[in-house]
Amino acid sequence: MPTGPTMPRDQRAAQITGATPDPESARWNYCPEGPVNLNPLFRWPLRPVAVLKWYSGAWLQITALTLCLVLAVGAYALFFPALESMQSFAPGWMFRIWLLNMVPQILVAGGLHWWLYMRKGQGMYKKFDRRDLTRDNGTFTFRNQVWDNIWWTLGSAMTVATVYQWGIYWAMANGYMPTVTWASAPVWCLVWLAFIPMWSGLHFYWVHRLEHHPKLYKHVHAVHHRNVNIGPWSGISNHWYENLFYFTTYFIHLIVPSHPLHLLFHSYFQQVSPVLSHSGFEKLKVGDADAARAGDFFHQLHHRYFECNYGTSEIPFDKWFGTYHDGSAEATTRTRAYKKQMYT
Ligand SMILES: [Zn+2]
Ligand SMILES: [Zn+2]
Repeated sequence: MPTGPTMPRDQRAAQITGATPDPESARWNYCPEGPVNLNPLFRWPLRPVAVLKWYSGAWLQITALTLCLVLAVGAYALFFPALESMQSFAPGWMFRIWLLNMVPQILVAGGLHWWLYMRKGQGMYKKFDRRDLTRDNGTFTFRNQVWDNIWWTLGSAMTVATVYQWGIYWAMANGYMPTVTWASAPVWCLVWLAFIPMWSGLHFYWVHRLEHHPKLYKHVHAVHHRNVNIGPWSGISNHWYENLFYFTTYFIHLIVPSHPLHLLFHSYFQQVSPVLSHSGFEKLKVGDADAARAGDFFHQLHHRYFECNYGTSEIPFDKWFGTYHDGSAEATTRTRAYKKQMYT
């Protein structure tokens, strides 16, 4: 059992007061206090200060969202091929799009994995699960969780994502879909950019919910759920069929007027942000301070208990449909009963 600063606060308090610790928090090395937060935008009566805090926390700090935005703007300014060159399928620009997917994925997932799990740069600080990643286990491809996750990410996910993007950029370059420029519609461009994470969350919930149908789960989504204890490479470690569903989120750009930067941001949000949310650590520490938000306890609970928290905390579908796990022991009991009922 952890002691000192890595020990959950209520356990430490319980040790001092002699009270019984919360059985759910005792299952973790670290877990946030109180119920897992959901976007207050959907709570009534509306609390404007809480909403403002939620969105400034996402957009004005170092988070998955801001990292993806910086990646997209940087990639667009420095490496993005000219739209006219994409009017026909040619190896030059197509290879470049593949690299624009691969390089950030390798740098972010590889970098975080190295820092958190190999170098153990912040030890167990704000690490949810006590265990280390799995080795020598036949559940995983290559009998190794990390190599399994790298293969499904760089082999399967990057391939499907790239092929979908090739099609969309080609359609954009040929005027087969509605496109906009930042000069002609700056307000629309900003609004749509800000809305992309919400669209992504909405699409993810329904695709994910479908994948938890027992039949689809067994043959498809189980590959992602091999990871009960998750790490940075687990983010989009998905079966081929899952990737075919998961990346259909990009097809919204065939309908909604977009600029290439929208798709670029969308692709990083879809591909790179899960690296952080699956990192297994709530915060990244630099020196003695929390420097960035990383892991997402809401989704960590999904990986441990499966039939809960199918969506994200951005749109509270789980709350509305009764599958919200708030991190409490009662929610665990309820989730286990629901899972049993699903599989009998
Ligand atoms: Zn799932
Ligand atoms: Zn996941």
